[in-house]
Amino acid sequence: MGKTTGFLEYERREGKVREEAERVQDFKEFHERLPLSEQQIQACRCMNCGVPFCQAGAMLAGMASGCPLHNLVPEINELVYRGRMAEAFRRLSVTHPFPEFTCRVCPALCEAACTCGYEGEAVSTKENEKAVIEYAFEHGLVSDGEPAVRTGKRVAIVGSGPSGLAAAKELNRRGHLVTVYERRDRIGGLLRYGIPNMKLDKSVIDRRIELMERAGISFVINTDIGKDIPASKLVSEYDAVVLACGASNPRDIKVPGRDAKGIRFAVDFLSEVTKSLLDTGFAKFPTELAKGKHVIVIGGGDTGNDCVGTSIRLGAKSVTQLEMMPEPPAKRLPSNSWPEWPRVLKTDYGQEEAIWKFGSDPRIYRTTVKEFIKDKKGNVKAAVLISLEPKKDPATGRMNMVPIEGSEKEVPADLVLIAAGFLGSEKYVTDDFGVELDGRTNVRTAPGEHATSRAKVYVTGDMHRGQSLVVWALSEGVGVAKQVDRDLMGYTNL
Ligand SMILES: Cc1cc2nc3c(=O)[nH]c(=O)nc-3n(C[C@H](O)[C@H](O)[C@H](O)COP(=O)(O)OP(=O)(O)OC[C@H]3O[C@@H](n4cnc5c(N)ncnc54)[C@H](O)[C@@H]3O)c2cc1C
Ligand code: SF4
Ligand code: SF4
Repeated sequence: MGKTTGFLEYERREGKVREEAERVQDFKEFHERLPLSEQQIQACRCMNCGVPFCQAGAMLAGMASGCPLHNLVPEINELVYRGRMAEAFRRLSVTHPFPEFTCRVCPALCEAACTCGYEGEAVSTKENEKAVIEYAFEHGLVSDGEPAVRTGKRVAIVGSGPSGLAAAKELNRRGHLVTVYERRDRIGGLLRYGIPNMKLDKSVIDRRIELMERAGISFVINTDIGKDIPASKLVSEYDAVVLACGASNPRDIKVPGRDAKGIRFAVDFLSEVTKSLLDTGFAKFPTELAKGKHVIVIGGGDTGNDCVGTSIRLGAKSVTQLEMMPEPPAKRLPSNSWPEWPRVLKTDYGQEEAIWKFGSDPRIYRTTVKEFIKDKKGNVKAAVLISLEPKKDPATGRMNMVPIEGSEKEVPADLVLIAAGFLGSEKYVTDDFGVELDGRTNVRTAPGEHATSRAKVYVTGDMHRGQSLVVWALSEGVGVAKQVDRDLMGYTNL
């Protein structure tokens, strides 16, 4: 424990966030860092708890509580407080392959479970993590990690999202020769083409990929496994193949008028925006996608919020975000006690920007679309919304949200973005590899394992556990690397 009375003496402070009026003018990151001296003070609020829930990564009431990577949070916080940043970086590196990603995009499961947050404000572990990793990059402490000895084993990784990258880094560190195949034109998966640039600047990915290439990892882009190269070729040419293709099947909304032009999946929209920004070196914003349009976002989650923030940056005329479920409470209910993940109302950056720009929260709860209305050219021009109410299904006893007849309301809509989640893996890949699936079309393995039903083929990330978070994808990537290494070498020291 850095300072025994730190949690009593200091309030939580966070880095500045650029004002809405300024940040909606660009796609740059908007969270600034505290000066290091102030971050050290924040780190001394950590109480070095006997039971550090912050690093447990345990499942409580169906949600993760604490860091799934089991970062050594109290130790790192103490080292930050003492200004021993190089050591803090070494402790962070024990469990964490890429802190520069999570310190920007993680919902901070560590903080939700922090004991300091039981009565007051949690320790700012996520910002401490950012201070450590950015210090390490700035001071040349992050090495490429090229192994001294090669094992002669070759591993192919299909998919370059956070999970595939984490597996690649670990397996390469162990001395295996790793090739990562990616069907898109750039590396990074949803880090690149899902999460918008203002949350994760894409140069942060490039900086890491350069190091990984220097360490001997090969990246092959624009190559779709299952289409450009058959699964059988990979399985015969490599000692192991890791599937890290994500859960890329978006959930659709099946209502009349769905075939209208102007109704798109959120990820396609977000990906097109980022690609256009990267292709033009941020010289041109693809305003034609949303400028002057009434935008409806279907889905009240984080992806929906990213669509709200992106549409505002592109000059949308109005943005409405629909959520089927009731509005969450402002504070934890007694049934959702600490250290469970707090099911409370969160107003994220996109919603803040909508409130600033349009004067009201874009979210409408207990509402969905009943029908889309087209103009003569087949473009969407309006959406018929309908309110929902919770009703118990007498057969199953489950509570469902059901439409309230007569509550229909027509609103203008020129662009509709469906952000209703993902359904699992894509069939052409899993068919080509001939791997078994579970009921949710995730690739099946034994519990806690990564080996699929096909010999030499492993699975990791969203393709394994379903749509999730970057921190889980990384934890899966580290896990699959251990299993592949053990199977190739007879033991693992990863
Ligand atoms: C819009 C959006 C915002 C998000 N924001 C956050 C956030 O703020 N914080 C957070 O923690 N999580 C966030 N997530 C979730 C997070 O991005 C994912 O959980 C994580 O990226 C999953 O990692 P992955 O490596 O399993 O798969 P992915 O990141 O999906 O990567 C899979 C990669 O495999 C490639 N691929 C697929 N099939 C093939 C093939 N046959 N051949 C070659 N390549 C293939 C794909 O092109 C893709 O690049 C967000 C998700 C979305 C959609
Ligand atoms: S990875 Fe996420 S949950 Fe883990 S310590 Fe960092 S911010 Fe917290
Ligand atoms: S739970 Fe909070 S206060 Fe306790 S060790 Fe973890 S970060 Fe520190």
